[in-house]
Amino acid sequence: LKTLSELKLENSYLDFPENFYHRVNPRGLKNAHLVSFNPDVAYMLDLDPCKVSPSELARFFGGGEILTGSEPLAMKYGGHQFGQYNPDLGDGRGLLLGEVVNSKDERWDLHLKGAGKTAYSRFGDGRAVLRSSIREYLISAAMEGLHIPTTRALCLVGSDEYTMREGMEPCAKVLRVTQCHIRFGHFEHLYYSRQYDALKTLADTCLDRYFTECEGDRKSPLGEAPQANDLDTNNVDVKESESAYLAMFKAIRDRSIEMVAKWQAYGFVHGVMNTDNMSILGETFDYGPYVFMDQYKPDYVSNHTDHEGRYAFKRQPDVMLWNLSCLAQALLPLIKRDALVAALDDYKDLYQQAYYQQMRARLGLVVAQDGDDVLIDQLIQLATVQRIDLNRFLRDLCDLDPDNDTSLQQCLRHFSDPVAATDWLVAYTHRAALEMASFPIMQQQMRSVNPCYLLRSYMLEEAIREANDGDYRLVNTLLSVVRNPFEEKPEFARYAGEAPEWAGGISLSCSS
Ligand code: AMP
Ligand code: MG
Ligand code: MG
Repeated sequence: LKTLSELKLENSYLDFPENFYHRVNPRGLKNAHLVSFNPDVAYMLDLDPCKVSPSELARFFGGGEILTGSEPLAMKYGGHQFGQYNPDLGDGRGLLLGEVVNSKDERWDLHLKGAGKTAYSRFGDGRAVLRSSIREYLISAAMEGLHIPTTRALCLVGSDEYTMREGMEPCAKVLRVTQCHIRFGHFEHLYYSRQYDALKTLADTCLDRYFTECEGDRKSPLGEAPQANDLDTNNVDVKESESAYLAMFKAIRDRSIEMVAKWQAYGFVHGVMNTDNMSILGETFDYGPYVFMDQYKPDYVSNHTDHEGRYAFKRQPDVMLWNLSCLAQALLPLIKRDALVAALDDYKDLYQQAYYQQMRARLGLVVAQDGDDVLIDQLIQLATVQRIDLNRFLRDLCDLDPDNDTSLQQCLRHFSDPVAATDWLVAYTHRAALEMASFPIMQQQMRSVNPCYLLRSYMLEEAIREANDGDYRLVNTLLSVVRNPFEEKPEFARYAGEAPEWAGGISLSCSS
């Protein structure tokens, strides 16, 4: 394990044509200082958490110093924002610093958000404020804790520099870590600017690097190996690679489905599902005004400037399909239209399967049976009508003992009308009795998918308020709480309870 100054970065993104990016170094912040650091992410980079010093983290990821080998760059991309294509996007304030190849031969991108202006900043100042940086930093750990695919964050650095957002706010930087920063919008940019050769270069690189399982179709097509001298080689190439590109598109679709199914199962609202915020790895990416709902509300819109409710909670699966259609459009130069349409046509069924699979797991139902979907729909209906906190209810359901009235009351307290809820619990108990595992064993399993703690908006608000006054303790406490959300700890009891009344009035914007 290494120290930060022992890391040597690589920069494979520089292998792309020059117009894929713009080279620029990060600009340091005044009095950059460490706010928080996540040891789980340090291990991914072969960093020794005990040897990484706060001052080093602050210098490299706040102060403008550059790690060995790092050649920072801003990536160019486009994307559909609220339904409209915007060609002028790109990293306006985040920089790809380079990649760490760890001892397991995994390649991790280091991306510094809030690093200063780039060629794609437009009217922005290139900065990120502490408020939004805390939100991105903590949710990255929280999603990982919940096993919802996500980008990660190594550290959060604060400063004495201020910029205008919701009033004057302190600037900060987050170091984002993930294997891939390529967005749907990267493909859209090359498609809409008619750079089809570059589009193929990008697709080939993605296949080689992230979707090797899809390359099988390209490297060893089914059936007899083609004899180069018998065939028009050019033709063969196109045909074989088309199936590889199609396989990659389907893999992106499937990963995206898995991600959204989890969002829907856990009541997560992303808030800004623009295609420039969609990772081709199907990781939750580019966090903005996200929310874990305290009360189950299908119409919930987390971003108060999203007046049409385009990104309402219940619309997320449809929006994901819409976004995948944008990606499909951009891949038209590489894949036949009919094949793309067929892949999109399968989305709805695949999504339903993934969603019910997630929900069954939360209910402890291992093998699907007829009627499970109805049971789940009934629960969602109840949760909607009675606006319950579905996550807290499901955690209490892990303790339900049909022969023990106290545990029954524990579940029923979530409902204002206990009659319908009792009916559901009776139906559920009958269904659960058909499981192979005994109740206690089943519930042990349930506790590993039903969190005791969620990163709720009110917790973030409290941590942000204190951090803006220079007190970072709550940020660090919340990191510990959300890293292990399934394991109940007495010292964190406060965070397992009901959200306070004022949480309902929290309003979030894109301003970040
Ligand atoms: P977002 O809404 O955060 O996904 O950002 C949309 C686009 O605006 C991206 O191209 C960002 O890089 C850019 N952007 C957001 N905030 C800033 C900022 N403060 N300075 C420069 N560019 C920004
Ligand atoms: Mg974005
Ligand atoms: Mg953003």
